[in-house]
Amino acid sequence: MNLVLMGLPGAGKGTQAEQIVEKYNIPHISTGDMFRAAMKEGTQLGLKAKEYIDKGELVPDEVTIGIVRERLGKDDCKNGYLLDGFPRTVAQAEALEVITTELERTINYVIYIDVDTNSLMARLTGRRICKECGATYHVVFNPPSKEGKCDKCDGELYQRADDNEETVANRLEVNMKQTQPLLDFYEGKGYLQKINGDQDISKVFVDVDKLLGGIRK
Ligand code: AMP
Repeated sequence: MNLVLMGLPGAGKGTQAEQIVEKYNIPHISTGDMFRAAMKEGTQLGLKAKEYIDKGELVPDEVTIGIVRERLGKDDCKNGYLLDGFPRTVAQAEALEVITTELERTINYVIYIDVDTNSLMARLTGRRICKECGATYHVVFNPPSKEGKCDKCDGELYQRADDNEETVANRLEVNMKQTQPLLDFYEGKGYLQKINGDQDISKVFVDVDKLLGGIRK
């Protein structure tokens, strides 16, 4: 079960990733997490990645492709993997084709959690986070029982500075520009599977699960 998971910010990719790796027992390979871990440890890779991440830029392809090649070659990927946050460029997607062919771990599906931009806008601008424990809420879809207060710890809820309408619109546009060429690339390869992300989290997973159940047979 060799998978790539894609989705715009707010599409619910993180939640689906957690459920997929748990049910199918495959490693969750997130390049963002790998870079953050390397930065925390202060390794050579971490120092390199930090130069770009702090500026909000992509880490250069040769660095990113190198870590993915090494990671996919590990033993725990022999029954499958879930790639998250990679590929982000067509050059990375092309390199991934070569890597996965060499390793005989070719991609089965690229799952795209598809959510309409207007819904993403509503999801992201309505998000509220607890200052104390980090729990997340949504003013409409998942409101706390007391307005502005966390249900778990009674902490104060706040809105992230970059969750305002203008910044979110910009973030979505930048992401869509990055994502579309990849969707086209994978559509061309015949791997692309769009899942309707505009429904309850549990229903989204039912759809993902149905698709993945098909690989097993
Ligand atoms: P993420 O957690 O996926 O948003 O990744 C955090 C940051 O790590 C990104 O903003 C990029 O700077 C870097 N990064 C993660 N994945 C990649 C990738 N595939 N290519 C280039 N940079 C990446």
